[in-house]
Amino acid sequence: MAGGWRVWLFDLDKTLVNVEDGVDYCAALHALRERFPQARRREGLPPVEFTRCAVEVLSVLDGLFGDPPRWQLASDTVEAYELAGVARSRPMPGLESLRSLRGTRPWAVVTLLGPRAAQEVLHRHGLQPDCLVARQPDVRMKPAPDPVLRALQLLGARPEEAVLVGDSSWDERSARAAGVAFVGLTWGREQPFGPGARVAHDLEEVTRLLLHW
Ligand SMILES: [Mg+2]
Repeated sequence: MAGGWRVWLFDLDKTLVNVEDGVDYCAALHALRERFPQARRREGLPPVEFTRCAVEVLSVLDGLFGDPPRWQLASDTVEAYELAGVARSRPMPGLESLRSLRGTRPWAVVTLLGPRAAQEVLHRHGLQPDCLVARQPDVRMKPAPDPVLRALQLLGARPEEAVLVGDSSWDERSARAAGVAFVGLTWGREQPFGPGARVAHDLEEVTRLLLHW
C-alpha cells in the first residue's frame, strides 16, 4: 500500500532526468542578450544550485514576466537550446525504481523547462505523468508557488494531499510556499535544503519513502 500522500509532484531536471548538463545555457544566454538587449534580469531571486548561465537565463525570463509576447519570444529562444539538448539528457540514477510506482497515484511533473523540451524529455525516458506544468507565460516560475498550485489544480488535489520531490532549493521554496510537503533529493550533497527538510539520497530512497511513508 502506498504512503499517505494522494498525489505526487516531481521536478524534472536532475530529479528524474539530467537535462541541464546537456543544454548549452551559456549559448542560450548569449542569444537571449542579442535578441533582448534591453531585457533586465530579475533581481532578488534566492540563490540556487544551477550553473551560472542557467540562473542568468531564468533571471532574464523572470524579468520579462508580465509581458507575455516578449516573454514567449524569449522562452522560445531558450527552448531551441533545450530541445537541442534533449538527445544528451540522461536518466538520474534509480529512475528505474520509480517505475514500480506506475499507476499507484496521480502524478505531475513541475519543471522550469519549456513545454516542448519537457515533453520530449519525458517521451525519451518513457515517463507519462498525468499532467505537466512547464514554463509558461502566465505562471510565475519556481521558486514561486504558482506552478505547484497549477499542478494541484490540474490534478484536483489540495496542498496537504501532495508531496513534491525535487533536487533544488527552488523546489523546496516553491513547495513550502504552496503548502505542499517536500522531499529533497541530495544526490550525496551535504544538506542543501533548509533545516528539518525531509531528504532522500537517491530515487530508490524516494521510491521507498513514497511507498511506505
Ligand atoms: Mg531540478
